[in-house]
Amino acid sequence: MTDQALLPPVLAPRPASTAAERRLSERIFLLARTRALRVPSLHPRHGGLALCGPDAVEKLRELRRRGHSGLLIADPAFYENDVATDDQPFTFTADDLFGHGLDRELELQLDSGATVALTPTRYLRAGDRGALRAVVTAAQDIDRVGTVVMIPAAVGWLLDSSIDLFLPALASIPHPVAIALGGQFNPLDSHRKATTNLRRLLLEVPGTALWRTDLAAFDSIAHGGPFASFGLTTALRHIIPPDEKPQNRNGGGPVPPTVLLPELLRFSSGPALAKRYAGLEAPTCTCQVCRGAGLNRFDGYDGDTRAQADAHNVAVWNELLSALFSLRDLGNRQAWWRRLCMDAVNAHETENIRIRQAGAFKPPKDVKRWVDLPVTHSPAPLPAAAPDPHQPGTSGTLLR
Ligand SMILES: [Zn+2]
Repeated sequence: MTDQALLPPVLAPRPASTAAERRLSERIFLLARTRALRVPSLHPRHGGLALCGPDAVEKLRELRRRGHSGLLIADPAFYENDVATDDQPFTFTADDLFGHGLDRELELQLDSGATVALTPTRYLRAGDRGALRAVVTAAQDIDRVGTVVMIPAAVGWLLDSSIDLFLPALASIPHPVAIALGGQFNPLDSHRKATTNLRRLLLEVPGTALWRTDLAAFDSIAHGGPFASFGLTTALRHIIPPDEKPQNRNGGGPVPPTVLLPELLRFSSGPALAKRYAGLEAPTCTCQVCRGAGLNRFDGYDGDTRAQADAHNVAVWNELLSALFSLRDLGNRQAWWRRLCMDAVNAHETENIRIRQAGAFKPPKDVKRWVDLPVTHSPAPLPAAAPDPHQPGTSGTLLR
């Protein structure tokens, strides 16, 4: 597809409009369950840890007590169980001498050492205007510095039928907004238009970020999101709507550890990879954790195997973060991301040929979509090089 009518270059990061946005800018957080948490090695400049679960605030306080000095966010994830209504858009847990309500929840998080406070927003069903209005109205009244408004929304909000309502509502919130999408599997796979409308939202509502996602974190940053969060496990890469059961591709058995295959930009089940490469030479990984070891070694469901797979995933993730954030404008970030996706789609075919199994690996739908969708911004020109006294005329060429 040709790229048409590209928007002018936009430097990244764009200026932050609140203190919270400034603190989170140019970072992709790792979102991890508080249960059996082992903190992997995070990117010092572009990473951070977000704790997920009803006891997230307590765990955060404990990590701070133990000396954790990096960026920390608590996401109590009440949206996993509670649906927002006109009357009850948030879930409150605190009820002590110091008060009860939205401001008290935010204060508790910040007092516990959180880098910013997330609103305890309930799940927004597609098209429920009353519930959205209730969240937005309350968000407009928050004057606490360091607040991020969580919008856990059914993916239906990104469709053409709702986006013209959703977008101005979010634009009227005077704090950064973190959107987590609800739906089975990868919610963005169910409607192609959801990805383009999400890009539009990120661009037109500065300060909006994608939360609780997967590789879409990169696409979101390349389209103007100031920050994002990436789920450590499959279940933390989207929201299952509170009144639905998670649909599971392995028929309801135990959930296997997933392994990020860097060249294919895909997550595959550890045991499935071991089976696929039985008797074959498996791909190896050069990340800091694997150091050349094969990616077929995550064949188990135990805690150690999961922790090793997670550590590999995060190490690969950290390398991608360095590459993404070294680019200083949206156009170059988009071009880099699209090229990576294109290479990944081609690498599927190459790997299938290498192992002589036609169709063994099929490119993920989202990666194909990121290749097919046009980039939106022109790249900023490269900075001018210093004139080379030995080659007259070189600098003039670069400056044109
Ligand atoms: Zn690795």
